[in-house]
Amino acid sequence: MNVLDFVGIGFGPANIALAVALEERGFDGSYVFLERHQSPGWQREMLLDDSDIQNHPLRDLVTPANPRSYYSFTNYLHVHKRLFDFLNLGITFPLRREYADYVVWVARHFAQHVRYGVDVQSISLTTVKGELLYRIESCDATWYARSVVLAPGRTPNIPQVFEPAAGPDVFHLTRYEQSLTLVADRLEAGGAIAVIGGSQSAAELVLDLAARFPASTVHAVHRAYSFRLKDTSPFSEEVYFPEFVDYYYNASDEGKRILNAELKATNYSSADGDVIHKLYLRLYAQRIEGKEVIRMHRSHEVEACEREGDRYRIEILERLTGARQSLQVDAVVLATGFKNFGRGLAEEPIHPLMTGIRAAFAADRNGGLQINRNYSLQPRDVDGTPPFFVNGLCESSHGLGDAGSFSILSLRAVEISSALRASLKTVEGAAIEA
Ligand SMILES: Cc1cc2nc3c(=O)[nH]c(=O)nc-3n(C[C@H](O)[C@H](O)[C@H](O)COP(=O)(O)OP(=O)(O)OC[C@H]3O[C@@H](n4cnc5c(N)ncnc54)[C@H](O)[C@@H]3O)c2cc1C
Repeated sequence: MNVLDFVGIGFGPANIALAVALEERGFDGSYVFLERHQSPGWQREMLLDDSDIQNHPLRDLVTPANPRSYYSFTNYLHVHKRLFDFLNLGITFPLRREYADYVVWVARHFAQHVRYGVDVQSISLTTVKGELLYRIESCDATWYARSVVLAPGRTPNIPQVFEPAAGPDVFHLTRYEQSLTLVADRLEAGGAIAVIGGSQSAAELVLDLAARFPASTVHAVHRAYSFRLKDTSPFSEEVYFPEFVDYYYNASDEGKRILNAELKATNYSSADGDVIHKLYLRLYAQRIEGKEVIRMHRSHEVEACEREGDRYRIEILERLTGARQSLQVDAVVLATGFKNFGRGLAEEPIHPLMTGIRAAFAADRNGGLQINRNYSLQPRDVDGTPPFFVNGLCESSHGLGDAGSFSILSLRAVEISSALRASLKTVEGAAIEA
């Protein structure tokens, strides 16, 4: 059984960008990426008709780190003979389907380094022949490595009120396409569905459902009064600059809170103008048509969601007037975001896959683990613990551009690849058989 220099967990954009960085920087260590899905993909459950991406397409898997790379979005267009056609569209943001195809195209170049269909269940530390190593386990296989790069994407946030009902009909948007097939018959026959949330994804889902199931009722429920416009001021968008990572990382806890509150609308609880205007126009058009497919429930809080026969009863409260209402639906889509590290209601102190290694690392002030600027965890025992990197989960320590965006993942990948190389040097030539 070989001991690898590192194991990457997850092969989404974060670790695909790392694979690119390693190849382009001539990393010659041994490694494998373990990916739960059977094949490469990106946002495969949310490739909605006409949906586009939110990052500048040149802030792709590699260009900010290496503008001459083979793996750029521009070269993807060139190789697929669509460069002129794409430029002729005159659009700023490519379709999400096209960008997903770009991600898959890059990922396929690294197939020799990926094991697909492997769902990692646990990570722990173990001593093998005197060396402290990571043991990474799926349900039927085990890997040993001198380092781990954890990049499973953030945990979907299921608000407490939906937890008892969560299942095939009450699902997070990360399961949208697969869950929808189970309720499609009911919606086609005039059923009802609720979309919870006020984000870009929520607005997209409301539009998508109304277009697919014109005989159904789509309830849009969200806490805020409005579907808010994303903050696209170029000053605010500097949260996606590499310099912002240093600024945010070095800010005090209070400073981070202030920045989060001020800059939240650059990515959260807000949507792009095109989607908002499309939704507003659809609401107007249905008044002409005399059929209210989409029903808006603004300023509403969900108080309960319970199964009643083969449907669900959702109790909602108007936050300002105190008026209560009951909705009967066949399904609920939760566009309720993802968990960052922290103590808050919609947060988690650590990712569940970090449970088994937690004791080896220094705690932070929020009951989580201290993450260094180079995305490694800070060991308790500085001399003995092998390096563990967190790739794409560090929004609470490294700022708003970290988890929810492509914008700087190519640069982050370079930082991690350099840190990996530096830390593994200490064991170079010490390959062992376990
Ligand atoms: C609907 C939607 C649209 C978005 N659009 C944009 C956009 O346009 N622009 C932008 O910048 N950002 C966008 N984002 C944010 C986007 O998700 C991130 O930018 C990007 O996908 C993060 O990449 P990642 O690799 O960190 O995580 P993910 O994309 O979540 O990839 C993680 C991978 O790890 C695998 N995995 C998880 N757990 C395990 C396990 N236990 N074992 C093995 N494998 C595992 C998963 O299967 C997955 O392939 C969007 C997010 C959503 C939800």
